[in-house]
Amino acid sequence: MNGAPHKRSIRDIDLTGRRVFLRVDYNVQVDDGRVIDDMRLRESLPTIAYLREAGARIILCSHRGRPRGQVVENLRNVPVATHLSRLIETPVRSVGDCIGPEAEAAAAGLEPGELLMLENVRFHPGEEENDPAFAQQLSKLAEVYVSDAFGTAHRAHASIVGVPEYLPAVAGLLLERELDALGGLTEPESPFGIVIGGAKVSDKIAILRHLAGKAEVICVGGGVANTFLAEQGFDVADSLWDRDGLDAARDVLAQAADRRDLRLYLPVDAVVGFGAADAGHIRKVPVDSVPPDWRILDIGPATVELFRTALHPMRTVVWNGPLGLFEREPFDYGSLAMAEMLADLDAQVVIGGGETAAAVHRAGIEDRISHISTGGGASLAMLQGRALPAVDALDDA
Ligand code: ADP
Ligand code: MG
Repeated sequence: MNGAPHKRSIRDIDLTGRRVFLRVDYNVQVDDGRVIDDMRLRESLPTIAYLREAGARIILCSHRGRPRGQVVENLRNVPVATHLSRLIETPVRSVGDCIGPEAEAAAAGLEPGELLMLENVRFHPGEEENDPAFAQQLSKLAEVYVSDAFGTAHRAHASIVGVPEYLPAVAGLLLERELDALGGLTEPESPFGIVIGGAKVSDKIAILRHLAGKAEVICVGGGVANTFLAEQGFDVADSLWDRDGLDAARDVLAQAADRRDLRLYLPVDAVVGFGAADAGHIRKVPVDSVPPDWRILDIGPATVELFRTALHPMRTVVWNGPLGLFEREPFDYGSLAMAEMLADLDAQVVIGGGETAAAVHRAGIEDRISHISTGGGASLAMLQGRALPAVDALDDA
């Protein structure tokens, strides 16, 4: 346990017969009453199984979407409860509110191992305002608070940081796993490699500042690389790059030049597109030959091989930021190749960031990656070395 050795978890307390307020992040898309992507539900199943085996009475709390403190019919939690019930082959009761007499009666009536799904906690403005009175009302439902909502762990909302003030508060297994994997990067097994992509340098500079000092290899792709290339004097033509990021790029390049044990790799070739970049308007070129009015939309094959060779000896790798416009074929080539090469490595591989996780899922190699974070914003906060309010709110071990 590198990530949160100082926080108590569900493994540290007696849960027999206790009413547990389990804050999960079931902020999933529902279409026509059906859950579209249930990864966030499945990720929480180990915690639910553990709590049920321990004889706890489980009160599930989640937000969904942005109802802005009002009841929004199509953001109710009922379809999520139905889907969860199917996954665990056990009834999950729903109530029409998350506080008040109906919720309290339902919570009080739970038998050990039974589950109750509260209504969308963001239907009350007190949630996002972190209103103490609202938090206290939520806390009345239970005797123990369990935090498993990693995806929302960077938000200081009532059900995240307020309720734990009134109850013994411990980490669930999903939160613990995320903290171990992302927190473990503070002391990575060396050699340590960083792969950075995505759109803007300004989004990524905090991650580079936090992690680059520990790294032996940094591979840069995506729009971020375009800014580095521009800083080095290459003409990136119409590519997406970040004028405000030039200073940051210069700092990182200087750091790499200063440290003999740190190597920074930039793309040597690129897939470029013109206009709408449809068939006939796509080419592979060296980075010093981007034609005027064309855009770099992906790394090229020579860069893929360069990155592969650089990353091969690594024992730990973290990847954040797609290496191209991966949402569009054929510009997903570099990101898919990166996913494949990381899957083949004999290393601890940690993926952070919402779009990067999507790219890895698209590659279909998630089983061969050590850790794909379930939290976009929260994983980025951790990669930047920032504390998470949800974690701070838990009891020290
Ligand atoms: P994450 O959510 O994993 O942190 P980011 O939000 O930083 O990732 O970046 C993802 C976005 O960057 C993607 O939508 C991707 O299309 C875009 N992107 C990456 N490379 C390029 C490029 N060369 N040109 C345009 N967009 C790019
Ligand atoms: Mg993103």
